[in-house]
Amino acid sequence: MTAAGASGPARDVLAVKYGHRVTTRAESYLNFHLYGEPDTDLDIDYFFWVIRDGADVFLVDTGFAPEAGDRRRRAHYGTPAQLLPLLGIDPAEVTAIVITHAHWDHIGNVRQFPRAQLVMTEAEYAFWTSPLAARRHFAAHSEPEEIELLAQRRQGGTLSVFTGQFTLAAGIELIEVGGHTPGQLIVTVAAPGGSTAVLASDALHFYEEVERDRPFAILADLPAMYRAYDTLAQLASQPGTHLVAGHDPAVRDRFAGYAAAWPPSQAEAAGDGGGAAAVTDLTRPHAG
Ligand SMILES: [Zn+2]
Repeated sequence: MTAAGASGPARDVLAVKYGHRVTTRAESYLNFHLYGEPDTDLDIDYFFWVIRDGADVFLVDTGFAPEAGDRRRRAHYGTPAQLLPLLGIDPAEVTAIVITHAHWDHIGNVRQFPRAQLVMTEAEYAFWTSPLAARRHFAAHSEPEEIELLAQRRQGGTLSVFTGQFTLAAGIELIEVGGHTPGQLIVTVAAPGGSTAVLASDALHFYEEVERDRPFAILADLPAMYRAYDTLAQLASQPGTHLVAGHDPAVRDRFAGYAAAWPPSQAEAAGDGGGAAAVTDLTRPHAG
């Protein structure tokens, strides 16, 4: 662990965009017809998040498995095992993986990290290993063998669960909010310079959900989802605290790009805006 200075600990907090799709607003917002607006296309990005904390590397989610992405027709640009080395990180160095929830696009590459400790909420684990998870509206968003792997990791002692709040490391808090899934969690990360990044994952797919009070279309519990938006809005009202939405391309406008050790050839490989992996520095929010 690097010594903490007056400006706070040396810590990288990164969003890695690894996939993309074009969807629509009607498909993304619950009962979109209520708003009386025309439907339009909506870009959706897929991210996982990296916290590099001295010798420790924490991953927040792992993205989807390439084969599951192909089956569901999502463009994808790399798995954590492929992309972390471009950031100078050996995947074997990953200390722990936070599982924000058990949807397919967040736990698809857990198998790449046999030695990392996994952490998730008890409610999330209990739900996805229960019979209800097989019902169509839940099963549509999961991959059975990926849930089975979580169960194996729990039996093997490398998956731990918590309820409420859990301190992963100094300045890194996991907070259970529910709503989108039964045990969805968010992560608050104290960053160098005194700012705090709130990794909302799918408690907030798009900023509009909080800023225009529009619930996302996929959910387990609407009152809990609204309460999660209130929790996020309350956090965002605190000085220096910035929300990081889980699927919103605007993340890359609201924070600075991360240039260090990221080969430009990778960004150029697939051409224009939507078509390449990209890394955003969540310790450097743009003003405003
Ligand atoms: Zn997601």
